[in-house]
Amino acid sequence: MTTYSEFHRRSVGERDAFWRDEAKLIDWETPFSDVLDYSRPPFAKWFVGGRTNICHNAIDRHLASRGEQTALIYISTETGQQRSYTYRELAAEVNRFAAMLKAQGAGRGDRVLIYMPMVAEAMFAMLACARIGAIHSVVFGGFAAASLATRIDDARPKVMVTSDAGMRGGKPVPYKHLVDESIRLAQYPPAKVIIVNRGLDAAMNIVAGRDLDYATLRTQHMDALVPCEWMESSEPSYILYTSGTTGKPKGVQRDTGGYAVALASSMRRIFCVEPGETMFTTSDIGWVVGHSYIVYGPLINGSTTIMYEGLPIRPDPGIWWKIVAEHKVKTMFSSPTAIRVLKKQDTAYMKAHDLSTLKYVFLAGEPLDEPTARWASDSLGVAIVDNYWQTETGWPILSAQLGVQETPRKFGSPSFPVYGYDVRLLHEGTGKEVGANEKGVLVIKPPMPPGCMTTVWGDDDRFVKTYFSDFPQDWAYSTFDWATRDAEGYYFVLGRTDDVINVAGHRLGTREIEEAVQAHAGIAEVAVVGVADALKGQIPVAFAVVKDAATVATPEGVAKMRKEVMDTVDRQLGAIGRPGAVHFVTVLPKTRSGKLLRRSIQALAEGRDPGDLTTIEDPAALEQIRIALAGK
Ligand code: ATP
Ligand code: MG
Repeated sequence: MTTYSEFHRRSVGERDAFWRDEAKLIDWETPFSDVLDYSRPPFAKWFVGGRTNICHNAIDRHLASRGEQTALIYISTETGQQRSYTYRELAAEVNRFAAMLKAQGAGRGDRVLIYMPMVAEAMFAMLACARIGAIHSVVFGGFAAASLATRIDDARPKVMVTSDAGMRGGKPVPYKHLVDESIRLAQYPPAKVIIVNRGLDAAMNIVAGRDLDYATLRTQHMDALVPCEWMESSEPSYILYTSGTTGKPKGVQRDTGGYAVALASSMRRIFCVEPGETMFTTSDIGWVVGHSYIVYGPLINGSTTIMYEGLPIRPDPGIWWKIVAEHKVKTMFSSPTAIRVLKKQDTAYMKAHDLSTLKYVFLAGEPLDEPTARWASDSLGVAIVDNYWQTETGWPILSAQLGVQETPRKFGSPSFPVYGYDVRLLHEGTGKEVGANEKGVLVIKPPMPPGCMTTVWGDDDRFVKTYFSDFPQDWAYSTFDWATRDAEGYYFVLGRTDDVINVAGHRLGTREIEEAVQAHAGIAEVAVVGVADALKGQIPVAFAVVKDAATVATPEGVAKMRKEVMDTVDRQLGAIGRPGAVHFVTVLPKTRSGKLLRRSIQALAEGRDPGDLTTIEDPAALEQIRIALAGK
């Protein structure tokens, strides 16, 4: 059996031979002539001359062997709807959608903006775009009209696809209304808007000549068969914006062939899902994890995918485990935030279900703290796999690759570089590689492997300037994250490079301090930011959520808890990391993808404007920070 290190060595050392083999996992209409064209660094073109289609690989090629197998299970605990689609049924729906898009004039290279809640039709729309060679730009439902308008103007879509409304916690959230508003604000609005009407918003406004009803169009194209457009491997498949945690989102452009190969390969070697087995990814189609592992990855692999609309704790905190049991899920993919929510619930909800089919839980999106990883591991008894990646890369950068080798995991570490990624840790000042256990900026030595972003949509300069300018002496793609590597080669991600706190000349990652605070058993969640201080440069300030609100219900309780937290940090990290202040709140400000908005917290703590808040989940969380700071 090939061991991980040999596998990885081959993937970068004998790159062409390695990826030529991996490329066999998908169908090519025309074989590629060269594995890689890297004549114009840092732009990489994979599988040059090859022609393929992602929709063909996700659907058509499975029809002969698994046409009657379930491809998609759609579950909404918001509307109570549940539907399954076989590969054959999915093919029919996607053909219908493709015909509708073509009838509106959308074709190869045209953009289609998808602003949809978690409904099966959103997936049909994405696959339909892939089928006809149109470039989709899925915008997370819930972004405000102004954010949607900037994305419309950036992509200039011919058609938009939306719904009347989404549902969250039992309440309808208007979508179409927002689309109308964004089109009013946009300079380059689409000519047509297709609306999947769920009957949730009776007040929805219809613009004659522009707005089209999906159900009506569907009946018109019931028996449509739309051939797949054969795309050159490096032609764009989609645009997707980063989460915007650190500022203005970047329009990530993805290719076709490289992406399909990376997904097919990762399904086997990282996510360990076989064709015919079921994967449950709890993300949203508006995020990269949703693109790669709700929609394309499982389908390209001939697996069954689950698409879930709803919260993890409604109707009760056992809902995800019920889904796992009912649909015999083998691999689950979620986020540390979601697991922390479930960790606060009674484990009886978990124990009530037969989870014997579940073998792997993958978690990504933000640091997976050790207590959370340990809790998940102890209570589920399955492999908990932390994996680290970015919208930009489209698939994991660091992860255990259990389909290659069953390497032991260390809590708090996403293990090793994924094959294809030449990962280095560079000293911020000198640009030299750091030694074991020394902090460095995590960079990838290009060419970036298949599947990674090929450029910033419409802006090659921005691509080079944003990602490849930090270490000009040598090309290096910067992730803007700090990490260390231990003597055994395990990586530990410490946080973003702009989340480093400089306390009296000592550089501390906010994550290090957060982990130390979380070592206190009474703390559920915490955010630490560096606040400017005339004497020390910066001092860490913590905003913590306690597990039991009663512990901080009185001034004495608050004082006691503060002292305990500070003592815990002293023990874990040393006095240098001790927060200058510890505030207690009931909710932390996060982006809608569950990432802490440290930049906004820090701004408030320094008396500045919290900045662009279009991606915030709950504005009331910032209000709590304000109140906590004022009450000090
Ligand atoms: P923007 O780039 O617009 O500021 P963002 O970086 O939050 O937004 P994403 O691409 O969704 O957008 O997030 C990628 C980032 O999430 C990584 O760079 C890293 O900081 C963090 N991250 C993802 N997975 C992990 C993980 N397993 N451990 C630690 N951090 C992680
Ligand atoms: Mg980022």
